[in-house]
Amino acid sequence: VSAHVLDGTAVARAIRDELSARISAFAQRAGRPPALGIVLVGDDPASEIYVRNKMKTGMASGITVDLVRLPKTATLEDALSVVRRLNTSPAHDGILVQSPLPDTMGPDAEAVVFETIDPAKDVDGFSPVNVGRLVQNRAVLHSCTPAGIIELLTRSGVDIAGRRAVVIGRSDIVGKPMAMLLLHRHATVTICHSRTLDLPSVAAEADLLIVAIGRPAFVTRPFVKPGATVVDVGMNRVSDRALVESWFPPESPKRAEYAQKGSVLVGDVHPDVWDVAGALTPVPGGVGPLTIAMVMHNTVVAAEMQAGSTASRA
Ligand code: NAP
Repeated sequence: VSAHVLDGTAVARAIRDELSARISAFAQRAGRPPALGIVLVGDDPASEIYVRNKMKTGMASGITVDLVRLPKTATLEDALSVVRRLNTSPAHDGILVQSPLPDTMGPDAEAVVFETIDPAKDVDGFSPVNVGRLVQNRAVLHSCTPAGIIELLTRSGVDIAGRRAVVIGRSDIVGKPMAMLLLHRHATVTICHSRTLDLPSVAAEADLLIVAIGRPAFVTRPFVKPGATVVDVGMNRVSDRALVESWFPPESPKRAEYAQKGSVLVGDVHPDVWDVAGALTPVPGGVGPLTIAMVMHNTVVAAEMQAGSTASRA
């Protein structure tokens, strides 16, 4: 292992610590803490864990987090009516609808939900208004995973301006907003996806390689320029023993974790990349905690913004 560890847990803690004074000041002015409403539809086990972590972090930070649960049989209209109620609720500053929504809601369900969320309360930054503002470099609420990655890079002293950045993955949630944020910080950005020809050669041009594809250990050494900074967004739970044994040597803590739990969390980046990258995010402990810290950050920003606009209207 030679790459420097980009410690997402430490940066996330710093972001949360910096928020605490703003949370107290808001609570004093408003007579209540900043408040986030989370909508969780169905019982997807990964979503349960993400929501539990957001609630735990919110409460530990002094932010009120209300969870609205809907059964997996709920209709899109049921979800929209919860969103509309939260839009007009004076007790909620932020709204987050956990993805994915059940398939039964139809292929456009998430887009319709994101269009319905009040852009001023859209802590995920997914509403078309906030996406448009992001493109124009005027966004206040940025989507949390890419914004957290920018915090990690800048606070770790990684240069962005003028560097070659390659983003693998073009999802609305990670890849596209990531590319836009890097562009606004003056990187020269290439976006890759499943149709990109000769992906390893394109990736190997990057000084800054961001990987968000959802395929365990996909990015191997030939994808990485020696000394490059690599951010591994992938979070893949793998239970196949042969795969785990092929990626991790017997002395690796991942093997012990597998023996204990029967599965391990693996990023999109192969562990061999530690030998060639200059800096790399671990999984877990890299991007995940940053995403949650940025949900809290955006809730505080949304609360301050709405309180400001209420005060200016009064
Ligand atoms: P997604 O919506 O499934 O998008 C995956 C993207 O990867 C697509 O653009 C797809 O290309 C591309 N892709 C898939 N296979 C590829 C291949 N063989 N070669 C090149 N590109 C390929 O996923 P997502 O929501 O962006 O999430 C990606 C990963 O990040 C997942 O593991 C997810 O769990 C993780 N994630 C982590 C966090 C966190 O906080 N740590 C937050 C969000 C997501 P096409 O567009 O051509 O299909």
